[in-house]
Amino acid sequence: MASSLRALRPALSTLSRASRTAATVPRTFTPAAMLNAGRQMRSYTEGIAHTPVFQLTEEEEMLKESVSKFSQEAVLPRVRAMDEAESMDKAVVEGLFEQGLMGIEVEEEYGGSGMGFTAAIVAIEELARVDPSVSVMCDVHNTLVVQAFRRFGSKTLKEKYLPRLATESCGSFCLSEPASGSDAFALQTKAVKKGDGYVINGSKMWITNAMESEIFIIFANVNPDLGYKGITAFIAEKNFPGFSIAKKEKKLGIRASSTCVLNFDDLYIPKENVLGEEGHGYKYAIGLLNEGRIGIGAQMTGLALGAWENAVKYCWNERKQFGRYIGENQGMQFQMAQARLDIEAARALVYNAARTKAAGANFQMEAAMAKLLASQVAGKVSGQAVEWMGGMGFVREGLAEKFWRDSKIGAIYEGTSNIQLQTISKILQKQYTN
Ligand SMILES: Cc1cc2nc3c(=O)[nH]c(=O)nc-3n(C[C@H](O)[C@H](O)[C@H](O)COP(=O)(O)OP(=O)(O)OC[C@H]3O[C@@H](n4cnc5c(N)ncnc54)[C@H](O)[C@@H]3O)c2cc1C
Repeated sequence: MASSLRALRPALSTLSRASRTAATVPRTFTPAAMLNAGRQMRSYTEGIAHTPVFQLTEEEEMLKESVSKFSQEAVLPRVRAMDEAESMDKAVVEGLFEQGLMGIEVEEEYGGSGMGFTAAIVAIEELARVDPSVSVMCDVHNTLVVQAFRRFGSKTLKEKYLPRLATESCGSFCLSEPASGSDAFALQTKAVKKGDGYVINGSKMWITNAMESEIFIIFANVNPDLGYKGITAFIAEKNFPGFSIAKKEKKLGIRASSTCVLNFDDLYIPKENVLGEEGHGYKYAIGLLNEGRIGIGAQMTGLALGAWENAVKYCWNERKQFGRYIGENQGMQFQMAQARLDIEAARALVYNAARTKAAGANFQMEAAMAKLLASQVAGKVSGQAVEWMGGMGFVREGLAEKFWRDSKIGAIYEGTSNIQLQTISKILQKQYTN
């Protein structure tokens, strides 16, 4: 199994290189090139052939196929057991690295797959169709941790950590604390300069991947007198003295994904492990979470699609009542069609947000809208899917009830639904205020 999946990688990277060199539009008309020249142009879309929002490039299409195969063969047989055990199977984590799914955007020189942001979205969505827990591991690692290094890391930090992150070491993004969730920049963890580095004291709550991770991005305040402008991002490793995992949470959903409390007791960080500039941590966190929200949107649309497919296959092929398949009743057909419509509408927002980001345009409102709608649709559709399957939807034999439990987190992490609404309304109010 693993070797056949590994065998897909050379084909993927060859195609990836080929499709980048043999672009179908002249280089000067790529979004990036147009943006560079954008000041003289009226719009960054000028000259670009418009394509349907779901149209994937050849390399994204190949990635989708290989992730789907990996999900079906390596993840699906383990989903129920991982949920019951509330832990991630090591073989799945190893498989994610083998497939190149933990360094999707990492440049090939650092051992990554060298693909674009939309490719990461495709992979996150495809994994969630089978297991939203595996999907969030890939999502947090790629869209928050790896991106932080790629965007803000020094050359030394990139050379030291990106090859590890792409091939063997999982990462965590540590912002939330017991007293600071939605109000993230009220964080209390402090970093004090000492010798050639910093000493960090404090704790973090609800940190995804913590049990599996080796590398942690920790946000701490170096000068609380400056308020949020003292927040700085630091890189810690699991084996640094003073770092500990205090507790692993037991959860309603995404139970195979680890969520932990971390403690820092005089955790020493050498000064070369400051990510970017001191005092700029809040800006980095905002920027990264904006991107991350598109990833959560993709996790939620993948989940909704997985729940919908699981249920309609049962309703149209397996269960008969009153002499016909239960899915042949118009009352069921209409609900199933409406649910699929809702999923496609949410997917359109997710892919539009990803393409907008990839084009280099402002995508904050698009990301907030995508995450909000996708999590609402995931909750609604996965709940309906349980009902469509009747008793079979409710028992833990299948996956219907799990998709529903897993959907709830979409309205909470990387900004609750109210926080997304707040972001959307702030942007709109600015546009419509004289
Ligand atoms: C499974 C899981 C994984 C997570 N992973 C990570 C991680 O890897 N890294 C990390 O840093 N954090 C992580 N988090 C934390 C997550 O981002 C926070 O839980 C989230 O931001 C909400 O914060 P809170 O839980 O403190 O809720 P609160 O901020 O206390 O909010 C509670 C309720 O109040 C509402 N509310 C709060 N403020 C306002 C307002 N101004 N206007 C309107 N309504 C408001 C919220 O919408 C919500 O409904 C994770 C959480 C969970 C549960």
